[in-house]
Amino acid sequence: MENFKFKKSFGQNFLNDVHILENIVKESNIQDNSLIIEIGPGSGALTRHIASVAKNVLAYEIDTRLEDYLDEVLSQFHNVDIIFDDFLNRNISDDIKKYQFDNIYVVANIPYYITTPIILKLIESKINFKAITLMIQKEVGERFTAKVGSRDYSSITVFLNYYFNVKKLFLVSRNSFTPKPNVDSVVISLTKNNKEFDVLDEELFFRIVRDAFQFKRKNLRNNLKKYNLEKINDVLKKYHFDLTVRAEKLSVDIFVDIANTLARK
Ligand code: SAM
Repeated sequence: MENFKFKKSFGQNFLNDVHILENIVKESNIQDNSLIIEIGPGSGALTRHIASVAKNVLAYEIDTRLEDYLDEVLSQFHNVDIIFDDFLNRNISDDIKKYQFDNIYVVANIPYYITTPIILKLIESKINFKAITLMIQKEVGERFTAKVGSRDYSSITVFLNYYFNVKKLFLVSRNSFTPKPNVDSVVISLTKNNKEFDVLDEELFFRIVRDAFQFKRKNLRNNLKKYNLEKINDVLKKYHFDLTVRAEKLSVDIFVDIANTLARK
């Protein structure tokens, strides 16, 4: 790695602390006979750790300059495949077809510039991941794990809570990376939500959530004025709110109730 020119545009900050690598793997709780997806193996530091507990690792790396280096550092592991391509352009379901496994996980220190697209892609793949363990920017993690009513609670918090139990595992200082980034990091885990939210029209639900948060300082009466406000108000009353409430005060269940009420016509 000595003469390697790190590319900022690829979010290349490589982890250099072995305790953190070990901790990520420990907290990922990988069961036997598992396939692990990694996005952005970089210099392969995390890949080596996950390869030693997984049946197979499938990693996606956009930077082909890393090919020879990764071949060499991973040569002792015969259970690692790397696809040199943009993860966002892949069809994950097709890529995993050739593997046999009991459980599938995602474990990755991802490129931060595409955090939300990566998560949306994982959701849209409809693959039943046992757990998704990701290192992300600390501030973004705060938004993802924000409690209802807090400043960081936003539409992405609602979407994530709809699909997952979102847990903050531990913080990681910027000093643990080469080159040192300008931000600290956090490791989070996403596991499938046991609560089955019965959403009648998922598209409508997502639209309402997005619109409700569109102008953060405005209340629902303003942000949702293109919907049937009377019906929305009836739902809100059940939870002791009215149309003057702001979206950040509303839990996933309330958004589901609003969307379902509007979907029923
Ligand atoms: N996993 C390594 C580690 O922990 O040290 C490297 C993590 S680094 C934050 C992010 C990695 O993702 C880089 O290796 C970068 O080249 C790669 N990357 C960036 N954009 C990508 C994309 N669209 N698809 C796949 N890999 C990507």
